[in-house]
Amino acid sequence: MMGKKTGEYDAKTGSLFPSLRLPEANDGELLYSWCARFHRLSGNQSARETSRQLFGNSTAGLRHDFYGCLDEFQRKTDSLLGSAEEIIHQRSLASFYFPFISHEAERKFRRIVLQGTGASARHLLKLSRSGLSAPPLKSCPDCIHEDLKEHPISWWRTRQQWPTSFVCHIHHCPLMVCETETRRSALADWYLPDLDSKLSRKNYRIGQNKAIELLLRLEQWVVTLATTSSTRYESNLLRHTYLLQARKLGWLSPDGSVRLMKLRDAFFEQHAPLLSEPTFSFIHDTLENHFGFLGLLLRQYPGQRHPLRHFLLMAFLFSEPSDFLRSYREVIHQMDAGGQDALNNQLGETYSHLRTLVKNAGYSVTSAAKILDISVKQATRHLESQKIEFKRRPRIVGTYTEKQLIEMLKRGESRRQIIQTLGIRASFIKDYLAKEPELKKSWEDIHFLRKRDEFRDQFLKTLAAFPTMPIRQLKRIPGNGFQWLYNNDRNWLKLHLPAIWNK
Ligand SMILES: [Zn+2]
Repeated sequence: MMGKKTGEYDAKTGSLFPSLRLPEANDGELLYSWCARFHRLSGNQSARETSRQLFGNSTAGLRHDFYGCLDEFQRKTDSLLGSAEEIIHQRSLASFYFPFISHEAERKFRRIVLQGTGASARHLLKLSRSGLSAPPLKSCPDCIHEDLKEHPISWWRTRQQWPTSFVCHIHHCPLMVCETETRRSALADWYLPDLDSKLSRKNYRIGQNKAIELLLRLEQWVVTLATTSSTRYESNLLRHTYLLQARKLGWLSPDGSVRLMKLRDAFFEQHAPLLSEPTFSFIHDTLENHFGFLGLLLRQYPGQRHPLRHFLLMAFLFSEPSDFLRSYREVIHQMDAGGQDALNNQLGETYSHLRTLVKNAGYSVTSAAKILDISVKQATRHLESQKIEFKRRPRIVGTYTEKQLIEMLKRGESRRQIIQTLGIRASFIKDYLAKEPELKKSWEDIHFLRKRDEFRDQFLKTLAAFPTMPIRQLKRIPGNGFQWLYNNDRNWLKLHLPAIWNK
């Protein structure tokens, strides 16, 4: 809560409205909304007159996203709605955009809205080119119902005006968009949300539960990143953060270039439920050759993109805002420590690791590729292009792997187990045994005994599970072991099945 909430506005400070009772400001209410309620009480005929009364300027208050002349407003209302700073953060849309602009731009922005008329605020945030420049007024029909149960009028919530808000986070229903008249980039009148027909309105076309879920999650991301973290998001650092995460998800080539086709397909599949709402038509553009906004955010294009697009991509790539923040801060740290080169090297580091492993540490291309989780083909192609000599197959004889192989053979482990554990080829085991006949004999003997014990065990378990089942049906149960025992261990089988043996 801020300031005093209501009051007989006496003329102690020589204010404008000595006899007028000022309305109480609701928590999270847009400043424009409070002004609109004041306008009704004032009985003023003209919207501009009210703006002049409150702001000393005929349009400053009607610029409902950022305003202007806020210093004057604060003086005229004796800080009834809190400090100008509190108004900027809680009753305008500025805090939504601040994380994406520089401190320098923020300083200019403050001058424009505190002392200026606010006319160039949108331009400063470079919103005019994004196609989302004049934000509509939005409200939730269920919130309006609840307001009207207790009060004669409803009010506009700041949070519902964010460009990422499409669904009410309390009632989980699509927001209603009011089609308001504008004059020279300010609203033409003081509108308030209602359900009668004074304002023409449409609902966001968000039908599917899947879409509502996506949008509620998106809004939650904005709550965390735009209003509770003081971090600034810079396009170039964001791009690196996205690319590093894309690598974790398998969407980055070893040379550091992004696999946009795969990433786009996954993104499109997840966000297809949003396409019924025209605001999201830009998602459709990702199907073009240039990959739409995904191409713009992930490739090295200069320019500032709308926060809505950044938030969509962040929420797609990262499971939690905290994961994103951790990665982003690491990227800032890298940039501070080693500059742009360090960031570029980090993205292409798989190939530099490959070169080090093969050239300096004597790894075969096969083992190096396995370590780095890339294909042998990719690794080979890169080493050839760099004219680095390499061995294709890992050397085994004389290494620790050979010791492990001998131990596993002595224990009678299966070929399959050995191949899986040591990552060597079946043909290598075959050749190795051919050269070591004694080892081969002992491996075969122990392997036979291990196998026999396994089959005996399986067979007894099957018998115990189906004590009355005839043997011809028992033989059909997968893994029953009968056939192997019949071929290799018939005497034991006779001993355990005397009753049916002669059937
Ligand atoms: Zn609601």
